[in-house]
Amino acid sequence: MEQNKLETMYQHLGVSPRVYAYGEAVLRALAPRFAAIDQTAEYNQGKVLAAMQKNRVNATHFAATTGYGYDDAGRDNLERVYADVFHTEAALVRPQITCGTHALAVALSANLLPGDELLSPVGAPYDTLEEVIGIRESQCSLKEYGVTYAQADLRPDGSFDYDAIRSAIHERTRLITIQRSKGYATRPSFSVDQIGELIAFCKSVKPDVKVMVDNCYGEFVEPMEPSDVGADMVVGSLIKNPGGGLAPIGGYICGTEECIRRCAYRLSAPGLGQEVGANLGLMPAFYQGLFLSPTVVAGALKGAVFAANLYEPLGFPCVPGAAEPRHDIIQAVTLGSAEAMSAFCRGIQAAAPVDSYVTPEPWAMPGYDAEVIMAAGAFVQGSSIELSADGPIRPPYAVYFQGGLTWYHAKLGILMSLQKLVDAGLASLPEGL
Ligand SMILES: *Cc1c(COP(=O)(O)O)cnc(C)c1O
Repeated sequence: MEQNKLETMYQHLGVSPRVYAYGEAVLRALAPRFAAIDQTAEYNQGKVLAAMQKNRVNATHFAATTGYGYDDAGRDNLERVYADVFHTEAALVRPQITCGTHALAVALSANLLPGDELLSPVGAPYDTLEEVIGIRESQCSLKEYGVTYAQADLRPDGSFDYDAIRSAIHERTRLITIQRSKGYATRPSFSVDQIGELIAFCKSVKPDVKVMVDNCYGEFVEPMEPSDVGADMVVGSLIKNPGGGLAPIGGYICGTEECIRRCAYRLSAPGLGQEVGANLGLMPAFYQGLFLSPTVVAGALKGAVFAANLYEPLGFPCVPGAAEPRHDIIQAVTLGSAEAMSAFCRGIQAAAPVDSYVTPEPWAMPGYDAEVIMAAGAFVQGSSIELSADGPIRPPYAVYFQGGLTWYHAKLGILMSLQKLVDAGLASLPEGL
């Protein structure tokens, strides 16, 4: 196909020839990065396939159940598949887990008792966990139940402060929580290797301490997961990476049998645990979504790498930087003003397959302490493995961009975001295009 034809299609979609030309110039240099991303996806596809084959996935596992859901073969087998993918003893993968925050709240409250202390050795946790923990006052927080919280901040360069961590660990420290992805912060995300070193350090200080990793947005970005390097639990949302865009709800916790049993008792009821929980006909989406996830994550990663390489040369600081390795699918772009955040989000929205005609506006969101602007035109509401951008309206006015079920859609969204910034006079392209 002639390059012209593609350029005409982009023009039809709203991308000017100059923005398109700039994007193509950026892309030419990214071929080796994209090849490495594809290779990780290929490896992870093998890992998922091997787990499905080992557990003899077949059509009976896709049948719907209702009511109590006793002896739900599809659900029980999916949990074995997840356990094998994450190399853990057990897994809890349920539509009854409503979101990532819920999965994390279950994992924490199941494994902490009154008098215990929770430690974050990586600075402040994700916004919504502040209320779960009780950092911000909230009913039913861990704090209300007598669980205390301690935090060791990262050093200014984003590295672990081992001295501070050592002195924060004491007799009551029961559980350590490590967030893999930066979330709404401009710190670096951690590699699985870094997480492994941190876990080894914490366990050398206190051998019986349990470690939970908030794995949101990190699944399948690398060939290994935090559960391969010593985490007792890894936790995440099915409307992010591992749902592959098909899961319409759900969360997972993979880990040791001891931890997962407690999580199941907390999620349903003591004594019932994993025995109850009908699958409501969601098994085809959960299995197929997991199957597609490594490829979908690769597309999202290409989008993130493209965005950083497109925006950084125009003077917008990016985390991770254009040349930096990736440990999650999130790209933070610091735009410097509320207007620029709005323009960026308008571009992402305009590129969507769903709701492309609506205009995102800042809004107060439950669980967040500043107004948040969100752009998403998703098949699954709020899904952030689908192309989406969001960010709290507060300095440094950074948008957190993620997802894209296909690389081509991610590419269009990023080009459209730049188009809106250029149209509003908030970004200018290099000379000579
Ligand atoms: C998204 C996210 C959460 C919370 O997940 P929700 O599904 O939005 O409740 C927690 N931690 C991190 C790092 C996340 O990215």
